[in-house]
Amino acid sequence: MLHLGLTGGIGSGKSTVAARLRELGAVVLDADAIAREVVAEGEPALARIAERFGTDLLTADGELDRPALGRVVFGDPAALRDLEEITHPAIWERTARLREEARAAGSRVLVHDMPLLVEKSMGAEYHLVLVVDTDVETRVRRLVEHRGIPEEDARARMRAQVSDTERRAAADIVVDNNGTPDETLAQVDRLWTERLTPFADNLAAGRRAARPAEVTLVDPDAAWPETAERLIARIRHGLGERVVTADHVGSTAVTGLVAKDVIDLQLGVASMAEADDPELVEALAALGYPRSAHIDRDESKDGSLWPKRFHTSADPGRMVHLHVREVGSPGWRWALLFRDWLRAEGPARADYAALKERAVAEHPRWEEYAEAKEPWFAEIEGRAQAWADSTGWAPGHG
Ligand code: ADP
Repeated sequence: MLHLGLTGGIGSGKSTVAARLRELGAVVLDADAIAREVVAEGEPALARIAERFGTDLLTADGELDRPALGRVVFGDPAALRDLEEITHPAIWERTARLREEARAAGSRVLVHDMPLLVEKSMGAEYHLVLVVDTDVETRVRRLVEHRGIPEEDARARMRAQVSDTERRAAADIVVDNNGTPDETLAQVDRLWTERLTPFADNLAAGRRAARPAEVTLVDPDAAWPETAERLIARIRHGLGERVVTADHVGSTAVTGLVAKDVIDLQLGVASMAEADDPELVEALAALGYPRSAHIDRDESKDGSLWPKRFHTSADPGRMVHLHVREVGSPGWRWALLFRDWLRAEGPARADYAALKERAVAEHPRWEEYAEAKEPWFAEIEGRAQAWADSTGWAPGHG
């Protein structure tokens, strides 16, 4: 099941987007609604709140008097912490239960509508984060005009949230809601058809996203490193301690280098047996990285074989090649050395860029393109190693 985190600042139009996703067929879990449900009358969390803060926080009907509770915890960190210790586990449990119910019912796309997703650093819990982005002044105007919120209240609430820049930095997908509602809905519909549905189908089938038959080189994208960081955070979140090292490698990890729009990641694991553990293989597939079983090694420059396991992305919106190698093995070391050498040496970058342009012009098909680059690798291994020797390079984690 594809797990999408949906967020946006207050008044951004998140509810509009959530409603459309629901219409299109997603199951939407509303974090605000869940937070209210766990303290509804008869819920254990409500009884604990009454125990801790007093029964005068309940209305005559036995419901939670939210404004009164708000006054009690406002400006009192210890009280707020106690409250969260009661509510957070209940919220977490309910969310997990609803998620499992959606999965059991065969839902393909689960949306978590979570206003404070970025504030609470939750991006790693989802396959994708969608941010609804609307200029502050437009948001203020809409909140005042459509929701009757006083302007100063709207601005104060916005000041309590992260900035739009920070929110966008956490996004895999940005929906621009500065225009008309129809323009926004059209973006959501296109996203549903072109990315979310095929991604969900690929996840369910355990297969990679389709890729074009031919390689295209693109200009360097300044967002590649932060994209890689987001992906690594998700993989670490999903796999935990089993990931010993996780690095952005390959051309997209080298500033200014022309490249295929593919994020290469290297995961270092304790042994190849670990890389083959069905649990780990399954976990990577569930994270959106099914294994490509036909690739299980790289040929080194001296002809010896460097074992690896290869996983690719199920997301049609983001090509990723994931190389799983044993930490400290020659293949693992080479991926880091090659990247760091290219980062450090301008002439090496220029040579590599020229080689790529030639290879893609003469052999645009993926397999042949990779093969066309091989002889150069044999040639430069010595150069890269000489650079490592002269600089005292050691594999770090860049
Ligand atoms: P959020 O859930 O992110 O706080 P809402 O979805 O409630 O924001 O949107 C705030 C207000 O702006 C609502 O009254 C909504 O109907 C209105 N709105 C949302 N998108 C648009 C749009 N593109 N044009 C005009 N009004 C909009």
